[in-house]
Amino acid sequence: MKRAVVIGAGMVGLACGWHLQERGYEVTILERGADVAEGSSWGNAGWLSPALAIPLNEPSLVTSGLLSLVRSDSPLYVPLRLDPELWRFLALFASQCTAGAFREMMDKLAILNARALEAFDALSPAVEEPTVSAPILAGFRDRREAEGLLGEFELIQSAGGELHYDLIEGKAAQDRSPLFSPAIGCVIDIHDQRYLNPNRYTHALADSLRARGATFMMEKEVTQLRGTGREVQVRTRDAVEPIRADVAVVATGAWANRLARGLGVRIPVRAGRGYSMICDTQEPATTPIYLPTVRVACTPIDGGLRVAGTMEFRRPDDPLDPQRLEAITRSTRDLLAGIDIDHAHDRWVGPRPVSADGLPLIGPTTQPGVYLAAGHGMWGVTQGPITGQLLAQAIDSGEVPPELRPFDPLRAMQWPQVPRIAKWPRLGSKS
Ligand SMILES: Cc1cc2nc3c(=O)[nH]c(=O)nc-3n(C[C@H](O)[C@H](O)[C@H](O)COP(=O)(O)OP(=O)(O)OC[C@H]3O[C@@H](n4cnc5c(N)ncnc54)[C@H](O)[C@@H]3O)c2cc1C
Repeated sequence: MKRAVVIGAGMVGLACGWHLQERGYEVTILERGADVAEGSSWGNAGWLSPALAIPLNEPSLVTSGLLSLVRSDSPLYVPLRLDPELWRFLALFASQCTAGAFREMMDKLAILNARALEAFDALSPAVEEPTVSAPILAGFRDRREAEGLLGEFELIQSAGGELHYDLIEGKAAQDRSPLFSPAIGCVIDIHDQRYLNPNRYTHALADSLRARGATFMMEKEVTQLRGTGREVQVRTRDAVEPIRADVAVVATGAWANRLARGLGVRIPVRAGRGYSMICDTQEPATTPIYLPTVRVACTPIDGGLRVAGTMEFRRPDDPLDPQRLEAITRSTRDLLAGIDIDHAHDRWVGPRPVSADGLPLIGPTTQPGVYLAAGHGMWGVTQGPITGQLLAQAIDSGEVPPELRPFDPLRAMQWPQVPRIAKWPRLGSKS
């Protein structure tokens, strides 16, 4: 039996492992944490929304976002620190915030997104945690505020993304959810979306892997990988002898740079950290709520509401900064009702793996038998299962399927490029 080692027990690594099992591999998962989902796969918003899964590198970021990066109450935040690597990353990132690059990225992601939900359906007989179908309700004070998101929808549809929605105004808008405050005067009701509980889902996926014979080795930090052509040797911090396998997949999320450097990967991945907390609600929440103007995503969870947001470019292991959660609280206070936001619990920070060019890195590396699956940014839950499915196909067949070619981890970035500040509607990307 062929042996595969997967490094990282987040949504992406687990999905890769599951699909390698489907193709007859004996799978070992190595995780530096004590449990699965210890990175960004735990407390995220859990939306499975391929139609909304657009690149983070919106053109408007250069004008509205990057300029406010150092304001600590901004939805996007970079603490001022001497970190040349981070500023280089941000410069690379900004160089991709052009209308042309954005459209190109959308086209590439559309291929992955088109199959994202069917990839969840493929897992569903084996994974005992449901995905829930529901609309997403995007709330605004008025129609004018909604223009940015409507502009974004036009772009998504022009890139072939399937998206159906209604625009509701006035009292009917506020009535769409008991969680909207009277300040909400316009709602975009985005049909046919799904969500899940990310912690429970990743644990159920891990249970399925175990039931099918996978070995989980926790608290094993991988420090080096070497492909000899005959085998892959995986070194961990605590062992003298390497673990040997036929193939290895590096799915280490926001920590990808550390191993990817030795694999010929030039596109940096940094942690775009997001925060979340769970709030009790007067009435049980039944639909996800999106507040695009403050970039906050809310998801029903265990009768309450998980409120998630912000993007903080900081080291993935830095401690939670309570100010960031306070910023979310302040920004949503006027927009939500019937929610006890002052006694939030399950406060969490997690590092989104953001690549400098806004696209995931999925495929073979320069080390024979070593593959990378990382850099999914804001949408690694949605795109995790399809990533696993396509990468397992590539590994098993020895041929990268066309859907994965745009995500070649060895691609080069065009650098330097002068950011073109396009006149563009202010897009309302989610958390
Ligand atoms: C606030 C917030 C909201 C979000 N909302 C959504 C959403 O609604 N929908 C969506 O699709 N996505 C969402 N995301 C993004 C999503 O959470 C991530 O894209 C996704 O979890 C990435 O999964 P991953 O497996 O690549 O990384 P991770 O889940 O971070 O897993 C990487 C794993 O690798 C391990 N690891 C790292 N280095 C090593 C090493 N050297 N050796 C061994 N193990 C190692 C880590 O401990 C970690 O467990 C959100 C993220 C945040 C922060």
